Amino acid sequence: MAKGWTIQGLIDGTMKVTAYCHNPRCHHHQLLDLEALKRKLGPDAPAMEWDLRARLRCRKCGNDDARLFGLIYAPDYDKAPRMPLSSPYVGAKRGR
Ligand SMILES: [Zn+2]
Repeated sequence: MAKGWTIQGLIDGTMKVTAYCHNPRCHHHQLLDLEALKRKLGPDAPAMEWDLRARLRCRKCGNDDARLFGLIYAPDYDKAPRMPLSSPYVGAKRGR
């Protein structure tokens, strides 16, 4: 079974997590502060979507229903401006 993300894993992987409020009258979205989560929950706290969703509260509408959030995990290119050199396509490409 694949191991899930932890808070520290997200930070080490320079991932960013954006939470979207699915309240139809709100649609607020907010980048999660992983450093703050780490201070609060500890570096080894599980940080998969459902772990985090249960802890969210929308700053705009006060929604704290875990079912009404969506999370997007994405590499943070601002913090890690590097190409994935381990990609199999890099080595296979012929210069031409
Ligand atoms: Zn909201």
